[in-house]
Amino acid sequence: MLRTTLLAAARSRACRTLVERAPVTRGLVSRYVAGSSLERALPVVEQLTADRLVTLDHLGEDTTDTSQAQDTVDAYTRLLSELGSAGVAERAEVSVKLSAVGRSLPQDGEKIALDNARRICEAAARAGTTVTLDMEDHTTVDSTLSILTELRMDFPWVGAVLQAYLRRTEGDCRDLAGAGSRVRLCKGAYDEPASVAYRDKAEVDRSYVRCLRVLMEGEGYPMVATHDPRLVAIAGVLADSSGRGPGDYEHQMLYGIRENEQRRIAAQGRRMRVYVPYGDEWYGYFMRRLAERPANVAFFARSLLTKS
Ligand SMILES: Cc1cc2nc3c(=O)[nH]c(=O)nc-3n(C[C@H](O)[C@H](O)[C@H](O)COP(=O)(O)OP(=O)(O)OC[C@H]3O[C@@H](n4cnc5c(N)ncnc54)[C@H](O)[C@@H]3O)c2cc1C
Repeated sequence: MLRTTLLAAARSRACRTLVERAPVTRGLVSRYVAGSSLERALPVVEQLTADRLVTLDHLGEDTTDTSQAQDTVDAYTRLLSELGSAGVAERAEVSVKLSAVGRSLPQDGEKIALDNARRICEAAARAGTTVTLDMEDHTTVDSTLSILTELRMDFPWVGAVLQAYLRRTEGDCRDLAGAGSRVRLCKGAYDEPASVAYRDKAEVDRSYVRCLRVLMEGEGYPMVATHDPRLVAIAGVLADSSGRGPGDYEHQMLYGIRENEQRRIAAQGRRMRVYVPYGDEWYGYFMRRLAERPANVAFFARSLLTKS
């Protein structure tokens, strides 16, 4: 119920204004967001890449303005060139939301998003790194996978994201488990109806294990995106039983969450990638993180009522 309310608020303009203006917000946001600009995020990336891998997200989503979509492409191009200059491109890639590069535009959105994503892939190729397409709500899955197919014709390293809470995902894992296919498996962060998604946590977890088994037993490169200690342990067992070594898959976690566990995994010689968001369009991302953590919500709600 609380999760549903917060995820609805994530798309509300009125709530956005309230949350963005609340004095308490800044402290909590900085736990999850590496900085309001690339200049602030780069030192974080340089520090993280000492023992971990990184994927950077230039924050923004649901763009309905062509020039804003263009600005996002320019921001990614600059980011990729900076990663190359800083010598960290081998350890840092980028994550892109297609709705940030034009998919929601009223006319030709999908074609514009494909063209824009292609430009980002070209910049990644020049820098010597890769791109992963984030997955958004369930209405966008077919479009994201079809853009993925197009991009992979020229850039076979483009990564996909699949969400275990969707009933269709086990099948999508089978389709995407081929040689060289990079697939990030996460639980899913949006509020989806029961007609398309498992709503019960135990059911989502069971689906995650089924999907992960398909990916681990396939020929692709699974990217295990979860902070859930049981699923992290199961990933290790499935990797062993599928004959995968430490370089044949990776763990992924979000910036600011389970930092000690990230370090522990890296220290064991396993690949650990941190998803690092930066920029000033943090509202939707931040609200999804709040929705995942009831303890944060209680603290935040109390502070909003008393200090704003
Ligand atoms: C690298 C990465 C990329 C992702 N990309 C996408 C994407 O493209 N599309 C998408 O829909 N979702 C994405 N997600 C989000 C994902 O779908 C989940 O919403 C999120 O990871 C929480 O699920 P969990 O597997 O960690 O399990 P949970 O059961 O939610 O959490 C397990 C434990 O992790 C800790 N934890 C989890 N969330 C938080 C939090 N916000 N604050 C503090 N502690 C927390 C808690 O200790 C919790 O008990 C991504 C997640 C990761 C790690």
